[in-house]
Amino acid sequence: MKKIKAKKNRNSKKVAVINQNQCDKSPFCPVKRVCPVGAIVPLNEGETQKKKSIFGFLIPKGYKVDEEKCTGCGVCVTSCPMQAVSIAKA
Ligand code: SF4
Repeated sequence: MKKIKAKKNRNSKKVAVINQNQCDKSPFCPVKRVCPVGAIVPLNEGETQKKKSIFGFLIPKGYKVDEEKCTGCGVCVTSCPMQAVSIAKA
C-alpha cells in the first residue's frame, strides 16, 4: 500500500501588514511591544534616531513588519488602537 504524503503549501504563510495611512506612528506603539518575536520594526531606523520630540522620545516615521520573523499569530491585530494592522498572505 502506497503512503500519500501531505504536500506543504508554501504560499500559505500569513504575515501582518501595516496600513501606513491609518498608523499614527506613535513612539509608544503597543503593536511593537506585544509582538512576541519582535517583527515590528521602525521605518528608516537610522533617520528615526535623529528626530526627537520635545519630551525626548524618538519619533518613528512609521513601522513595518519583518516578514522573516513574523509568524502570523495575529496578536498585533487586536492590540492596535488605530486598527492599522491586518493579516494577509505573504
Ligand atoms: S502577527 Fe504575530 S508575529 Fe507577526 S507581527 Fe503580529 S504579533 Fe508579531
